[in-house]
Amino acid sequence: MDITPLLSNLAELHAHVGSSIAPHVLWHIANAEGYKLPKRDYHEFSNYVVLTQKRKMTLKEYLDEIYHPILDKLSSGTRALEKAVYETFSGAYRGGITLYELRGNPMKHNKEGEVDLDHAILAMLHGMERSLLEYPKLRAGIIFCLDRQFNLKQNTVIVEKAIKYAHRGVIGIDFSNYNKNGFHYKDYAALVKKARNHGLHVTAHTGETVDTNDMWECIESIAPERIGHGIKAAYDTDLMKEIAKRNIVLEVCPLSNLVTKAVKNIDEMKHIFSQFERYGVQFTINTDWPETIEGGHLDEQFIFLYEHGLLNKEQIKKAIQTAFQATFVPNERKTNLYL
Ligand SMILES: [Zn+2]
Repeated sequence: MDITPLLSNLAELHAHVGSSIAPHVLWHIANAEGYKLPKRDYHEFSNYVVLTQKRKMTLKEYLDEIYHPILDKLSSGTRALEKAVYETFSGAYRGGITLYELRGNPMKHNKEGEVDLDHAILAMLHGMERSLLEYPKLRAGIIFCLDRQFNLKQNTVIVEKAIKYAHRGVIGIDFSNYNKNGFHYKDYAALVKKARNHGLHVTAHTGETVDTNDMWECIESIAPERIGHGIKAAYDTDLMKEIAKRNIVLEVCPLSNLVTKAVKNIDEMKHIFSQFERYGVQFTINTDWPETIEGGHLDEQFIFLYEHGLLNKEQIKKAIQTAFQATFVPNERKTNLYL
């Protein structure tokens, strides 16, 4: 039984700007902008930013040493952002993805305030529009990530920008990064409500590396439609029942969890999927970091899951279908552009 026919019409719901840029594009940007890089040779650079099953790093190590200082930096500023987003969507479509939700925090791509935020956001949207025009069968949208290390005031600015650009293709908000001391979802209930009133959808990174208390608080305070990762729920029966009851869809990113050691091995990943099946938890398969994990493209992830016996063909079909149903990208439009 072959899954290849399923892999030409895929939906990606969880991928970040910095780690969706192919290493050769990062290299082009770095050289065009004249940035110094930790490696002088392209292949050495590519091996440095890409994690593999043999070269793993914890999420914190990767974020602190590579993601924020290199990937975020190279995808900052208007020219870099437009190119990064354009290349990401275009490459994804050529790789079998027909629906792509890309997420990023515009405040992490504006050179620490040197670049006007509206210019940074419009650069992202221009990049998306260019690829949508070039590939009329591609549907896409951008999710703005709030940062749990930011204060409420900073995150409020991000939500206000998301509202401002909702008619141009900003489709939702997300909560990312580690919890700062004192971060509580309940403090965001009013802001999330405001976002929803303006047609934005809501997801949140939770249950990736920490216990399920954070997931409970997240669900009860902001009622997200989807959850990024959520794999720790597999160890909390009541939580799985609650997620299933509320029809919350999990954005599972298996290879990302394996290379960052959030899941210790393939057997644990298998256990997580079987628990979700058992308790009727809906899940989708995503990349998180399609270009910074070896073999991390979405079609390759499905092949990995299939070949290692983590999911069978029917389960793969269902996960793909669930992703198309759970998308934040609006459906009934005459064109794929936000006009
Ligand atoms: Zn993520």
